[in-house]
Amino acid sequence: MPRLDVCAPAIVLRTVDYGDRDRIVTLLVAGHGRRGAMAKSARASKKRFAGALEPLRVIEASYIDRDPSRLATLTSAEVIEHFAGVESSFDKTSLASYATELTRELARDGVPDDDLLNLLVGHFRALSTGAETLDTLEDLHTTFVLRAIDGAGFLPALAVCARCHRDVDASTQWRFVPEAGAVCAACRRPGASGAEVMPPTLRFLADRALRSSGAPDAPHVRVRARSVLRDMVRGMLGRDLKSAHFLDMVLR
Ligand SMILES: [Zn+2]
Repeated sequence: MPRLDVCAPAIVLRTVDYGDRDRIVTLLVAGHGRRGAMAKSARASKKRFAGALEPLRVIEASYIDRDPSRLATLTSAEVIEHFAGVESSFDKTSLASYATELTRELARDGVPDDDLLNLLVGHFRALSTGAETLDTLEDLHTTFVLRAIDGAGFLPALAVCARCHRDVDASTQWRFVPEAGAVCAACRRPGASGAEVMPPTLRFLADRALRSSGAPDAPHVRVRARSVLRDMVRGMLGRDLKSAHFLDMVLR
């Protein structure tokens, strides 16, 4: 592959210190997808990248790409947008960290995914400028997670049975099977996994996936929806995200 000089907006998904002087960053780059890059002297010189190599920033990243199987070389990074309203709040920072980690898991090396990038930036803006109650914070979080999963093609059935496609309603019992979604009593396989879930919980999640907020929901619906959402992510990744721990401290 010939040398490629890239200069594009990006978001920092992760940083890991390397030796005494350098830092390895994982970026989601507009038009280029996920990319790991070596930021030489990022630790040795405070001025070198001047605070740009932190999560919660949109940066203009310039790097040299010689070989997709190796780290790119970051040559400059400038902050275009940062989200002060998020950084000043533990709750918002926790939700933003979770969103960043989920994005890192869903993005693919070298596969452009500007929808995911825009979704994450939009989420940071919404967290930063609005969302002063815990319910509105959680709504933003739920919508982000569902849309990110949907964009990756993993959204399970929420409004209909995953197997027979009948509408979710109160005339039968429902289970949530993480790899499939809502499953009605008639389609349930004996001994199969999946916790019982009530139609209002499925409706709440289906509404959030479509971004129609709908009527305020009872607290028990939110609590149940939270655990279904966690099952969904766990079913997709085979484990919890590390930042789920902080999420639990915020959404109790
Ligand atoms: Zn069914």
